Amino acid sequence: MTDWDPKPEQVTGDARLVGDTEPVGLGDTEDVFVHGDAVGGDLHVADGEYVFTDVPTESEGVTPPTVDRAVTGEEDGYVEDVADDVVLRGVEDVFVHHDGANALRAGGAEQVYHDGDAQPTKLPQSYEVTLSGWNHTREVRDPRDGVAILGATNELTVRDLAHDATVYVVGWGNEVHLEGRDAEASVFFVGRDNTVHVGPYLSATAAAESGFDNEIDRAPIPASAVIQTSKEEAHADATFGRHKLTWQEPVDDEQWCPNCGSEADAVIRRRQRDALFLFGVPIRTYDDGGESFECEHCTRHLGEVSLTESERRDALR
Ligand SMILES: [Zn+2]
Repeated sequence: MTDWDPKPEQVTGDARLVGDTEPVGLGDTEDVFVHGDAVGGDLHVADGEYVFTDVPTESEGVTPPTVDRAVTGEEDGYVEDVADDVVLRGVEDVFVHHDGANALRAGGAEQVYHDGDAQPTKLPQSYEVTLSGWNHTREVRDPRDGVAILGATNELTVRDLAHDATVYVVGWGNEVHLEGRDAEASVFFVGRDNTVHVGPYLSATAAAESGFDNEIDRAPIPASAVIQTSKEEAHADATFGRHKLTWQEPVDDEQWCPNCGSEADAVIRRRQRDALFLFGVPIRTYDDGGESFECEHCTRHLGEVSLTESERRDALR
C-alpha cells in the first residue's frame, strides 16, 4: 500500500473519480484511464509505470498538492470529472485522453509516451459513439465525426462506413473493425496493443501513436470483387451449338498486375473461348482468344460489385 495522508477510502472493483471539487488522490489500482475533459487542474503522476498520453507533459519539479481525500480500488481507476488537481500514486499504467487534464506532471512515471504530431480535427469526447470500460462490445453504423474508445479489451464494429472518420483509441488490447466503402479513417492511438481492422474498400492511416505495438490491419480486396463472370457462369448456358464465352478467373500467386504494373490484391485473368458445344462439352474450339490481365486498380468493374455478407466476412478475416 502506498502511504496516503489521510487514510484512503477503499472501494471494491474499479475506483472512479466523479464530481470532486478539491484536489483528490487515486492509487493502488492497476491501470488508470483519464477521460477527455476529466481534470480541471493538473494531473500528477507521483508514482506509476508507463504513461500513455495525448496531453503533453509539463516541466517537472512541481510538488504534488496535498489531498484531503484519496481513493483506492481493487482493479482499475477511471478519472471522469474532477474540478481540481488529481494525484496518482502506486498505479500501473496511465492512459490520458486528449484534453484529459489542464496539465500533466508525470515526473513519477517510469516512462512517458506522447506523440504530438497530429491532433484530431474535432474533439473525440464530443463524438456520438464512445465506448468506455473493460471488455465491452458494440456495433454502430456510419457514425458522423468518428468513434472513440477508452479502456481495455473492448471491441467496436463500425458497419457501412461511408464518411471519412476519426478513430480515437485510448487504452490497451482494444479492437476496432471498420467495414464500408469509399471512406478514409484517421486513427489515433494512445496506448498499446490496439488493433484497427480495415475492410478492403476503405483506407486508414495512423495519424499519431502515443505508445507502441498498435496496428492497422487492412483486408485485401478479394478477386471476386473484380470478377464479373466466373467460368461456371459463362459455361452455364453453353449446352449445344457454337458459343463465344468470356469469363475471368483469379490469379492467386500474382502480387503485381501484368496489365497496369500496380501492386495489387486482386489480379484476375480474362479468358475467352469460341467453341462448339455438345451436352455442355466443347468438342471443337475455334479460338481460345489468348488472355489478358486486370486488377482492382485498372478494372472498370470494381465499383459495380457489392459483396454479400459472407464475402464481407471473408474479406475481413
Ligand atoms: Zn492492374
